[in-house]
Amino acid sequence: MDLLRIFRDKALVNLLADRLRAYSGPPVRFMEVCGTHTMSVFRNGLRALLPPNIHLLSGPGCPVCVTPSGFIDQAIRAGTRRDTIITTFGDLIRVPGSLGTLERARAAEADIRIVYSPLDVLPIAQANPGKLVVFLAVGFETTAPGIALMIQAAESRGIPNISILPGLKRMPPVLRALASPGAGGHGLDGLICPGHVAAIIGADSFGFLAGECGLPAVIAGFEPLDLMLAIYKLINQVDQINRGIREAPGLENAYKRVVKPGGNTIAWARVQAVFEWSTSVWRGFGPIPGSGMALRAGYAHRDARVILGLDPEETMTDNLATGCECGLVLRGQLSPPECPMFARGCSPESPRGACMVSSEGACAAYYRYRHRDVIGG
Ligand code: SF4
Repeated sequence: MDLLRIFRDKALVNLLADRLRAYSGPPVRFMEVCGTHTMSVFRNGLRALLPPNIHLLSGPGCPVCVTPSGFIDQAIRAGTRRDTIITTFGDLIRVPGSLGTLERARAAEADIRIVYSPLDVLPIAQANPGKLVVFLAVGFETTAPGIALMIQAAESRGIPNISILPGLKRMPPVLRALASPGAGGHGLDGLICPGHVAAIIGADSFGFLAGECGLPAVIAGFEPLDLMLAIYKLINQVDQINRGIREAPGLENAYKRVVKPGGNTIAWARVQAVFEWSTSVWRGFGPIPGSGMALRAGYAHRDARVILGLDPEETMTDNLATGCECGLVLRGQLSPPECPMFARGCSPESPRGACMVSSEGACAAYYRYRHRDVIGG
């Protein structure tokens, strides 16, 4: 049996489900921070395997969902010029900003192209020397190494017409904002931490969740068994603390086959060579100091806002569509079906907010899998 099949094995998943159903303590609320986790939970029907006293919430770990409307507006401003080509990952073009969507701007003849890797930008720029190619740089620590590589490649190959609209975000600061004792009212009993982010920045980067914030935390992979194991480890911690067997919560790494304590130091060094930390606005959270990635001074000539004279403050604004509750959904304070517009005016075909647009969005996951409750399938 190969490794992946083991982590998708229904018998093993059901074994853990049986143990979780034996939990008879008070209700707990665990947040799966990452959008990829959210999709895996739904795709594999894991919620249906949990007892009613174990609740899963979705969090701010979908990069498209947490991108504020001001970023979309600025991308539209950059894209409606005749001397630019906008390049972006696909999900972003349907996210509504105050000025509409990039999809609508493209229909109005803005040159907006979907790419699958930041490195796809290089040949586009080389083929269009008379245009500034702007890559919409959104994502977390996992996406940042590829973008840093693209910028360094543009430098070393002497391609002058490549730039980015900076929108990259760092996961630890938003989790600190979410889980700090002073944040108040988060009501969480544990966090399932994003395995792919941890693979880059290291398991140790999440130690503050247990130490400073007092929350049990487990780093998890993305297969059904990975997630069930993470939930099982969280329940074990909660139960042992409740029964006085354990004194304090801890951080556990349930994804050791990929995540090392110090992470991928080569990839992370590349990111730090190109970017420095900045304040960034997260949809639903507002500005969070140190949670963004800005180009270092040596790469300022690759910042589309500088080149095009765009207002740097615009990316700090965030306006949700009237009635859209994405902010509460991203903070784990509202389940998507509780939004009055869920499936009533807001659907993947006609999204009102980013959480319904993104393939990793909580609203999209609830919508897509709302009739499904079995594992596998
Ligand atoms: S259902 Fe639609 S309108 Fe409601 S929070 Fe989700 S994306 Fe926003």
